Amino acid sequence: MKIAIIGAGFGGLAAAYDLRKAGHEVTVFESANYVGGLASGFKEPHWDWWVEKFYHHWFQSDHSMLGLIRELGWEDKVYFPRPYTVLLHDGRWYPFDSMLRALLFPGLGFGLNKIRFGFIGLFLRLTNNWKALEKFKADEWMTRWAGRTVYEKMWKPLLVGKFGPYYDHVNMAWMWARFKARSTRLGTFEGGFQNFADMFADRLREQGVDIKLGVQVTSIQSETGKGLVIDSGKKEAFDKALVTTSPGLMAKLCPGLPESYLKGLLELKSMGAVVMVLSLKRQLSEQGYYWFNLPKEAGYPFLALVEHTNFIGSEHFGGDHIVYAGDYLEVGHEYFSMTDEQLFARFMSAFKKFNPAFKKDWVKKVWVFKTSYAQPVPLVNHSRNIPAIQTPIEGLYFASMSQVYPWDRGTNFAVEIGRRAARLMQ
Ligand SMILES: Cc1cc2nc3c(=O)[nH]c(=O)nc-3n(C[C@H](O)[C@H](O)[C@H](O)COP(=O)(O)OP(=O)(O)OC[C@H]3O[C@@H](n4cnc5c(N)ncnc54)[C@H](O)[C@@H]3O)c2cc1C
Repeated sequence: MKIAIIGAGFGGLAAAYDLRKAGHEVTVFESANYVGGLASGFKEPHWDWWVEKFYHHWFQSDHSMLGLIRELGWEDKVYFPRPYTVLLHDGRWYPFDSMLRALLFPGLGFGLNKIRFGFIGLFLRLTNNWKALEKFKADEWMTRWAGRTVYEKMWKPLLVGKFGPYYDHVNMAWMWARFKARSTRLGTFEGGFQNFADMFADRLREQGVDIKLGVQVTSIQSETGKGLVIDSGKKEAFDKALVTTSPGLMAKLCPGLPESYLKGLLELKSMGAVVMVLSLKRQLSEQGYYWFNLPKEAGYPFLALVEHTNFIGSEHFGGDHIVYAGDYLEVGHEYFSMTDEQLFARFMSAFKKFNPAFKKDWVKKVWVFKTSYAQPVPLVNHSRNIPAIQTPIEGLYFASMSQVYPWDRGTNFAVEIGRRAARLMQ
């Protein structure tokens, strides 16, 4: 069969790999000039490694991704350091990325709250019944079972940070997935995610996949006798096609989809993200912390501060220290229309809180990345709203971050859904 894939993110690349292995003629259309999608990176001339535009790491539970890397023979290029994630309490930072660390966290006192916290964590780790949990809002379930103090101290800031105005609508299965699929060691690929994506694309090309970069698909139409006609400036017919864009873009590309499927796509909610990356002359967190979780009510202008070079050594970046400051936001938020200079001025105001010695002249260079599709929002009973991978148009398939539920989005699940779609297409 002649198969088209729209998007060279990890979902599209993984699908291309399996479809080509099964003997199909595969063309990947990618509007950007590079592969890797949301996990892509950038590089300064004096850096050996790429930096992801949006902070990225893997968990040891990312079996689809780690399994694919094993199949490709690149296991020796995966690293799992043990960086530190910290949480704010009474103006101080405390490591908070394992059950033990959580139990030692002073923010919950040492009585009943600790027991409830431990019990809920254990229950969520042990149960597989996420379907029962998706009927409840995380806000209500957590307040009831973990108690108001534990919920407001630990979990509410996370929900507010990630989902803004939707925080009290997100279902409990999302929270369950966070407990299930996490590890304290965090992983990356030698050279960064972009290096992995480039190596993967090269392997696909060697195997005969045609990857067209800088080619935007503008419509996909089913035509009798021809199959699926893909318009990318030039029209070409394919037997089957897989789209890996956001649901909104899918709806625009394929207006011929039946009303009910289109409505399903357009009703899905998601948050965007704005992330600033800075290269600094000096280390910001002298304690060597990697990830700072920042409760919105503490007044920081962003949700997370991530010192990448406390995860991957600054020697890979010519001695530069790389820091991310980012937030999940609705697309109408002012950060989406602010200039890079305005954002820089806004974000800088908080940097001294991570190191009182910080000075503006530590900053060598600043980059800002924005995406309108960063984090799907799973509402109550969300499993009923997931668009099927196989669309009602014959030969047309759709696989996006919004369909990996009950898992939260991630490159691991992009690989999983890309490979699942490839199986369905054969
Ligand atoms: C802020 C942030 C942090 C994240 N952190 C992590 C993390 O720590 N670990 C992790 O594993 N994952 C993380 N993720 C999620 C991860 O990036 C995604 O789950 C994954 O990259 C999605 O892959 P995909 O192939 O489904 O989609 P995408 O990567 O979005 O790929 C879709 C591709 O389609 C292309 N495209 C769109 N429209 C067209 C068109 N009309 N024609 C041709 N091409 C088109 C796009 O350019 C893009 O390359 C994070 C994401 C964000 C935003």
